[in-house]
Amino acid sequence: MKDEAENVSDGSSRRNFLKKVGVGVGAISVTGIVGSSLLKGNEAKAKSGKLVKLLSPEGKLVEVDQDDIKSAKGIQPADNETVEQHKLEARAGLPNRKFAMVIDLARCKNARKCVEACQEGHLLPKDHEWMRLYLLQDDSTTSKYWFPRPCFHCDKPMCVSVCPVGATYKRADGIVLIDNQRCIGCKFCMTGCPFSARVFNWKDPEVKVPEGHVYDPETNIPATEGTVGKCVFCADKLRLGELPRCVSACPMGVIYFGDILEDTVTNGNETERFSKLMTDRAGYRYREELGTLPSVYYLPPTQRMFPVESGLEDTDKSIKDRYKKVGPR
Ligand code: SF4
Ligand code: SF4
Repeated sequence: MKDEAENVSDGSSRRNFLKKVGVGVGAISVTGIVGSSLLKGNEAKAKSGKLVKLLSPEGKLVEVDQDDIKSAKGIQPADNETVEQHKLEARAGLPNRKFAMVIDLARCKNARKCVEACQEGHLLPKDHEWMRLYLLQDDSTTSKYWFPRPCFHCDKPMCVSVCPVGATYKRADGIVLIDNQRCIGCKFCMTGCPFSARVFNWKDPEVKVPEGHVYDPETNIPATEGTVGKCVFCADKLRLGELPRCVSACPMGVIYFGDILEDTVTNGNETERFSKLMTDRAGYRYREELGTLPSVYYLPPTQRMFPVESGLEDTDKSIKDRYKKVGPR
């Protein structure tokens, strides 16, 4: 098993895997489409000559020629897809996926590239942070550490339970979204979320939205006054087989993203078995005791790569001020 796992995270295979599959695990489905492409790959002689290791629907590692890898049906938006069709797909989610994020707290140094990439990609004003960096300290005897917090896309999301109009919903692939065209701005979901992951749009966005852009719940662009926004796990990127913006932007490789059904996550450079990472690094979910079953996992900040102070060196004063009073929870 060890050898198999190492094969997956090995050099060129991994790069090919990421290049062809985009999100690594995300652009290939576990059943059906991937199954057929894997079978096809096993039966066919290598065409490009570059073999890629993938996980089969039965959980076995198999080798396929990279030219035989196909995107799962529904991943690429159809050219003739109507807005209404897309909205239905945005509500259903991608088939046969269960997306998850793993955040390695040992690597984070508050570089804030994740926050910036998220704001830029979703046309957010500077005071709206769907990804937020906290400075935490668990006990007065222990050190502080940086804690990136996106939406946790819980499997039992309280925000969804309390929404009176079905504006916020959970998809089959695990992503929780908000349809701003249904949202009535009651803020029940903001109160219901124990992680403060939601932001209220007090006004229409100041950032200019491209002309003719049609509202898409997968990006929440354009935001509308009187509605709620939050991290969308970059559902639009996943549909294209690409990694979420924050994952790609992080220079430290802090954020891994992938599909639990394929037991694989990647930060774009390193691809790991999700289960092995959890076991070897004592992964956990924040406030597990609440029972909301987040899709975001953390690796504890042990043997950290940077002293916590280095995360304040290049930080604006306005941001630094947030962290003045940090103490044990
Ligand atoms: S603010 Fe919008 S998304 Fe949140 S509970 Fe109310 S209607 Fe639903
Ligand atoms: S997954 Fe996408 S929406 Fe969520 S914090 Fe990262 S960049 Fe923002």
